Amino acid sequence: MSGLVRSWVESANSPTTDFPLNNLPCGVFSTPDLTPRCGVAIGAMILDLGAVDHGLDQSLFAAPAWNAVMAAGPQVWAALRARLMALLSDPAHQAAVTPHLVAQAGARLHLPFVVAEFTDFYASKHHATNVGTLFRGAQNALPHNWLSIPIGYNGRASSVVVSGTDVLRPWGQMKGPDHDMPAFLPSRRFDFELEMGAIVGMPSTGMVSVQQADDMIFGYVLLNDWSARDIQAWEYQPLGPFQAKATATTISPWIVTKPALEPFRTQTPPRDRPLLPYLREPGPMLYDIVLEVALAPEGAGETVIARSNYAHMYYSAAQQLCHHTSSGCAMRTGDLLGSGTISGPTKGSRGALLELTSGGKEPIPLATGGTRSFLQDGDTLTLRGAAIDAGYRIGFGACTGTIRPAVDLPDWAKD
Ligand code: CA
Repeated sequence: MSGLVRSWVESANSPTTDFPLNNLPCGVFSTPDLTPRCGVAIGAMILDLGAVDHGLDQSLFAAPAWNAVMAAGPQVWAALRARLMALLSDPAHQAAVTPHLVAQAGARLHLPFVVAEFTDFYASKHHATNVGTLFRGAQNALPHNWLSIPIGYNGRASSVVVSGTDVLRPWGQMKGPDHDMPAFLPSRRFDFELEMGAIVGMPSTGMVSVQQADDMIFGYVLLNDWSARDIQAWEYQPLGPFQAKATATTISPWIVTKPALEPFRTQTPPRDRPLLPYLREPGPMLYDIVLEVALAPEGAGETVIARSNYAHMYYSAAQQLCHHTSSGCAMRTGDLLGSGTISGPTKGSRGALLELTSGGKEPIPLATGGTRSFLQDGDTLTLRGAAIDAGYRIGFGACTGTIRPAVDLPDWAKD
């Protein structure tokens, strides 16, 4: 498929909407009158799937989460998409479907699926090189294993929140003013990470191939892996990130499915070192998705502080998922895989303040005045992304969060 597929929902035919009929992303919404339920975005509207006649077993939509559909497998995913395309393109269905459309402007969006487990990777060579230089120096920037293995760590499903959720500045243990004694303080180097999240639809047991891994993926979201750099620098050796990454991970509210992204598939870059056979891709498994990061201080307009593209990654989500199963690790419906920070080759395409400001040493200017080294209380950080073709865009909606001040420390944690 290429080019806009027209809908009788007029707002879906706008070249600027994130949600043309080609997209049909999956979310969970509520209104003052409707309890949380599954829906798909179409233009400025949401189609209520618990109410409309889509021909699928309604029990798949009994819970306010897409997990049952995700577990039902690719044939059900394809059948639902085909039916919704027909319902929303053929004006013959307009009278029957219109009562089940809800304006997005009046709806609240919730986490679109129950997150089973969360794993985060480290798959942009530019990011790994930049951060490695800051943490370990240019000589040891890229670890020797990095060109052969999609490095990751097991995160916390409980930390994943939907776009629009406030994020409390974390307290944490960090390097103190003297060499021997650490300090326990609100993070002063609180940061974002621009990432994509891949969502596992079909579960697995045992090792799967890269192709099988790609087939298991239901769709993608934008993902912001909030990171406390001062906590991270103190705690990360030898086992990697822990509390620095556990405050919150924000995802965009709409799952953009693989069929919507199919025209935008692209190759991972040439390999600096040949991959072991199990990680070689049988075809293009990365996507050309234009990304941007905007920062708005409290009460002020936003500045776009970074522009990047998912196509900059060295490893695809399918390679990461394949590697994740290489030990025999079982994967579940609802597993979320963070791509790792997406940084491109230029300074303006870096996906974290740590890199954009060279570790805080070169603050970036904001269009509304002032500068930022790291995030301040009241700052709102927004990720946006879309795969763009002539006349239409497959958008993800915003992935946004506002930083709130650290809570008061309880007495038992004070001196
Ligand atoms: Ca991350």
